[in-house]
Amino acid sequence: MSKFWSPGVSELTPYTPGEQPRERLIKLNTNENPCPPAPGVEQVLRDYSIDHLRLYPDPDSRALREALAREHGVEVEQVFVGNGSDEVLALAFQAFFRQPLPISMPAISYSFYPVYCRLYGVEHRTVALGDEWQVPLEAFDAQSGGIIFANPNAPTGHGHGRDAIEALLKRVTECVVLVDEAYVDFGGESAVPLVERYPNLLVTGTFSKSRSLAGLRLGYAIGSRELIEGLERIKNSFNSYPVDSLASAVGVAALEDKAYFEACRQQVITTRERTRRRLGELGFEVLPSQTNFLLVHHPDHEAAQLFVGLRERSILVRHFNTEALRDFMRISIGTDDEMDSLIEAMEAIIR
Ligand code: PMP
Repeated sequence: MSKFWSPGVSELTPYTPGEQPRERLIKLNTNENPCPPAPGVEQVLRDYSIDHLRLYPDPDSRALREALAREHGVEVEQVFVGNGSDEVLALAFQAFFRQPLPISMPAISYSFYPVYCRLYGVEHRTVALGDEWQVPLEAFDAQSGGIIFANPNAPTGHGHGRDAIEALLKRVTECVVLVDEAYVDFGGESAVPLVERYPNLLVTGTFSKSRSLAGLRLGYAIGSRELIEGLERIKNSFNSYPVDSLASAVGVAALEDKAYFEACRQQVITTRERTRRRLGELGFEVLPSQTNFLLVHHPDHEAAQLFVGLRERSILVRHFNTEALRDFMRISIGTDDEMDSLIEAMEAIIR
C-alpha cells in the first residue's frame, strides 16, 4: 500500500506464476515444454551479430509476422506480435473489451483474465463449466461487451472443435470473441481458419508452450485487419516496437523447423497419455486433456497434502487455492523420466 499508487492498485492481486526454483527440482508447475527449442534457434543465437542490438528493432516485426502468416495461411496484416501472449491479451482487453456491457468468460479459465478486467476497468460475467468440464459455448450471451476463453481451456484441458467455435461466431456478431489458443498444438483444433469469415474473431497464440520458448516472451494474435489495427493502435501508444530483434530472429527459426515441432508435440502427447493411464491406475481421476498438462484429483487424498508430499520429494506441481479447484492438482507434462519420478513419488505418498 502506498499513497503514491493510483486508486485501485492496492486491490490488484497480480497473477503469480508457479514457483521458479533455484534448487534442482522436477518442475511440472508452469506448463513449460520439456523439449529444447528447435536446433535452428541455437544456430541463430550462435550467429547473432551483436551489432543488431545497437539498433532499434524493425517497428513492424515484418520477418516474424511473415513467418507466422505463412505458418497459419493468413496475410501478414492479420498478424500481431507481442512479448508473450500475456501482453497480447492485455492489449486486447484495452483495445476491445472496455465496453458499456460486461464481457463474458468461463468461471474456470486462465486466472489472468479477471486480473486484466480489474486492471483495465472491464466488468465481467462468468458462465459455469458444463458437466464434462467443457466451456459451455452455448451459454455465452450474444449481448456481451466481449467473450474470452481458452481453447483448449486451462487448467481443465478440454477443447472444442472448430465447428463449435463457428456455431458461436454465427450467433455472436456484435462483439469480439477472443479464443486463447496457448495449448492448441497438443491436440486441439485451431480456430484460425475462421478469421477470414468472422471479423470479430481474434485468436491468440504463444511460443511458450509448443515451441519451447517460454523464456523468450513471444506471443501473437491473428484476426481481421480491423482487429489487428486496433491492437496496433494501443501498442503504439505504449511502445512502438512490438518485440525485440533477437526474439524476432529466434521466433522465425522456431517456426521454420516443422519436423522438429511435430516430433516434440507428439512426444508430449504420448507422454501425457502414458502419465494419464498410470495416474488412473493409482486411483486418480484424471480429466481428458488436449494440452500439455493434466488436471487430477484423488478421491482419498487431499490435493494440498499431495502437493506438499511431492514438494518434499523435489517435485513441483500446481495446486490452486480456489474453491472450485481446491481438490485438484495441475501437472505439466515433462520428460518420460520426470513423469516416472512423479509416478514413483505419488506411489510412495499414497501408499
Ligand atoms: N493463456 C493461457 C491459457 C496460459 O495458460 C498462458 C500461460 N500461463 C498464457 C496465455 C500466457 O502465455 P505466455 O505469456 O507465456 O505467452
